[in-house]
Amino acid sequence: MERNWRFGIETSSHNSGVIHSGIHYPPGSLKAILCVRGNSMIYEICERYRIPCRRLGKLTVAVNEEEADELERLHRWGLANGVDGEHVKKMEPNVKAEKALYSPSTGIVEPNELMNYLYTKARKNGAILLTNTEVECLSEDGDGYEVSGISFGEKFVIKANVVINCAGLYSDRIACMAGLDVEKLGYKLHYCKGEYFRLIGKPPVKMLVYPVPREDVLGIHLNLDMAGNARLGPNAYYVDAISYRVTSSEREFRESVEKFLPCIREYSLIPDFAGIRPKLHGPGEGFRDFIIRHEADRGLFGLI
Ligand SMILES: Cc1cc2nc3c(=O)[nH]c(=O)nc-3n(C[C@H](O)[C@H](O)[C@H](O)COP(=O)(O)OP(=O)(O)OC[C@H]3O[C@@H](n4cnc5c(N)ncnc54)[C@H](O)[C@@H]3O)c2cc1C
Repeated sequence: MERNWRFGIETSSHNSGVIHSGIHYPPGSLKAILCVRGNSMIYEICERYRIPCRRLGKLTVAVNEEEADELERLHRWGLANGVDGEHVKKMEPNVKAEKALYSPSTGIVEPNELMNYLYTKARKNGAILLTNTEVECLSEDGDGYEVSGISFGEKFVIKANVVINCAGLYSDRIACMAGLDVEKLGYKLHYCKGEYFRLIGKPPVKMLVYPVPREDVLGIHLNLDMAGNARLGPNAYYVDAISYRVTSSEREFRESVEKFLPCIREYSLIPDFAGIRPKLHGPGEGFRDFIIRHEADRGLFGLI
């Protein structure tokens, strides 16, 4: 069930389209495990079904000794290769770095094409997509769930044995409808906005270039998309409401990347788009992993 007129028009199409390698996540976390597995699966699917993707590679660059130490920590996780400043110059002449990590398995995909494939596959397997259908109420009735709401302007009620809550930014609301105490269980979502600025002109690099991440934030980086455009972003700041307008200043973006990409001064930037990350941790709180859980032990058999 999808409340919008089509699938994938929220977070799944407001992102960088990067096929991550998993180097930024703590080893053993679900984020790391699923990212590493998903990385090879996405390339395999893209090749088999001719979905546009490119294995561009990624450089994570340290510009001083302090950042180089942090880079060392990511290096130990073993998913990328260490590269010195000289070598970086050969790989990407416009990038300035003390040291870097090169991750060859990072790439980009066209998110809408990937979703079209997933939708077609689900349909072939018997799934039915109900668009314009918003779930407003979910109740356990002894032998399953009663799911109700509005579909194409009319009320509906259906019975379900299994309910998978994958409502993105609203998944805590759905959990709440099922009777789960989202505050107590740590399921409450915090909205973290990320905006992008597009570079006008030929991209200054061939691969993706990231700064050293701080805590759970990847930092404003240089992205490329399947159409060959380069953009800076996303930034990260918490918001109370969902709005996809780009309101941050261009200066913030320039200054963030200038230290590793000095030629950014020669480029004009224009506001591009924004996305919103549903995060389990609020500002200043530490890393929180994904939660994928069958709530049977809380009396909600069949609710995932
Ligand atoms: C700025 C930004 C950059 C990112 N960059 C990357 C990246 O480079 N690589 C990467 O792998 N990931 C990236 N991500 C993360 C990635 O986009 C998300 O992990 C992914 O899109 C989440 O998909 P989803 O299906 O969980 O959520 P969504 O795409 O949000 O889908 C949830 C759906 O549920 C529907 N829904 C909600 N409530 C209801 C209801 N009550 N009834 C019916 N339908 C409902 C919504 O309409 C929506 O379509 C980024 C995210 C952001 C915000």
